[in-house]
Amino acid sequence: MTKKCLWCGKSTSQLFKVQLQFRGKSEEAEVCSSGCETKLRDFVRYADTHIKHYIIGFVISILVGFIVALLRISVDGGGLGVFIIFAGTGATLIKYPLVTPQTVNLLGAKGAIASGWILGIINIFLGILSWIVLTGKI
Ligand SMILES: [Zn+2]
Repeated sequence: MTKKCLWCGKSTSQLFKVQLQFRGKSEEAEVCSSGCETKLRDFVRYADTHIKHYIIGFVISILVGFIVALLRISVDGGGLGVFIIFAGTGATLIKYPLVTPQTVNLLGAKGAIASGWILGIINIFLGILSWIVLTGKI
């Protein structure tokens, strides 16, 4: 089985091992070039400092959206609340594209970040769509 660069996801036999600090633990990763090593280190540092904001962003979006949906269920069928849930989690994903380690292993961190952005955009789109449908604007 050929191994993949953890940053760009390229399969090559020319990988070298690097040590990364994440959540106070040292993790071993394999990259194909020093360019990929720099980018991966920057990303891991970013992820390490922002993972709290990411979780908070998700929790607040869902909580606020849920409350708004309940309060306004007779006004707009909960449309605005549902929009807040989707758009809030979507915006969080775009700002902090911290996807699962499984995705990183599969696509490389670079691809995983892109998939985080795409997911975020889809979420916002779904939010707008459900808002329109629930409020009965179409
Ligand atoms: Zn690479």
